[in-house]
Amino acid sequence: MIKDFESKLEEYAHLLVDIGMNVQPGQTPRITASVDCAGLARKCVRICYERGAKDVIMDWTDGFVTRQRYLHADSSVFSEFPGYLAEKFSFMAQEKCPVLSIAGDDPALLSGVDPLRIRAQQKAASLPRKAFNELLMSNRIQWAVGAHPVLPWAHAVFPGLDPESALDMLWDAVFTACRITGDGKAVERWEAHLSSLSEKASVLNSLDLKELRYTNSLGTDLVIGLPEGHVWVGGSDDTDGGITFLPNIPTEEIFTAPHRLKVDGIVYSAMPLSLEGNIIDNFSIRFERGKIVEVHAEKGEYLLKEAVALDDGASYLGEVALVPFDSPIRKSGIMFLNTLFDENASCHLAFGSSYPENLKGSGDMSKDELIEHGLNDSITHVDFMVGTQDLSIEGIRRDGTSVAIFRDGSFAF
Ligand code: ZN
Ligand code: ZN
Repeated sequence: MIKDFESKLEEYAHLLVDIGMNVQPGQTPRITASVDCAGLARKCVRICYERGAKDVIMDWTDGFVTRQRYLHADSSVFSEFPGYLAEKFSFMAQEKCPVLSIAGDDPALLSGVDPLRIRAQQKAASLPRKAFNELLMSNRIQWAVGAHPVLPWAHAVFPGLDPESALDMLWDAVFTACRITGDGKAVERWEAHLSSLSEKASVLNSLDLKELRYTNSLGTDLVIGLPEGHVWVGGSDDTDGGITFLPNIPTEEIFTAPHRLKVDGIVYSAMPLSLEGNIIDNFSIRFERGKIVEVHAEKGEYLLKEAVALDDGASYLGEVALVPFDSPIRKSGIMFLNTLFDENASCHLAFGSSYPENLKGSGDMSKDELIEHGLNDSITHVDFMVGTQDLSIEGIRRDGTSVAIFRDGSFAF
């Protein structure tokens, strides 16, 4: 049993509601959580009301029920999206409901399910959810994602331990990664951490960088061009109405968009990549004029080759993120098998789609204009870790001068 579990859980709930969603008086937040995460979700509901929420929409899910439905329901239901649910999404879009999703499912929840059923369901849901998702993607409503340890996840992370010890270990790791100690001060610690991230981001934005040059002893030798007008983002976001919120808890990264056509050289992986439950390890990726032209992996090579060929955009980069080597998540040495945590362990890149928030003026641009400015578009977005203890990143400014960005795996400024 974890020491001070209840008070740590309370601190976690405050972090999700007060820093994550930052619920304002009169708002109607929506929370989704599995029934296995009820303890944390109920605390979040209570805190929302304490913050003056007009109402809270609590949507419970149940992994068991979800799986039974995918396995046994009539196949016609997956290509339909019921009208009453569509109405719910248009209500949430109209009310600009802040959303919190507490993720806590078995990583193998959908194993053995016909992928056609999953794809049909995603497709059927995409149109009715479009208005709401667009508000979400363009940060016009507050949204946050946090994770809740459950037994199957804990077992996947610590396969050698008995189930109860594995779950305790995972809770401990999640609390540590989220700077939760039980002293009730996680919110203050996060305010300080977030302001240091945003200071770093504004330094990077003031440099007007043209490209980044990565080198390390693994053999990484990579030039990443940055689009004109790129924006470094770190920590929290603001809605157009000026409400600050934190989408990912925890977060350690400062990231921007690479220019999709200006990446050249080779990069070596610093950590294994977990892709839909499979591990790809010790891999390298070579780029020519932005495009991935060669992929090698000691383990899982064919999976990586498939992943970068999913569509046209999958073979170009969409994100470049800086995370110091001494981040608490990397220091824990734990592979969480969950991107929310693992992408905060090290400097990473992602192949696939870019985030429009990483380009100045993107709000008024069409998809084609975003691509013209160097952003990438794809149905996929896969983060992979490249940051080692000896990683150097040299920045080249638009005026041709150079500036040290990373030395020995951490920020040089
Ligand atoms: Zn990232
Ligand atoms: Zn990413």
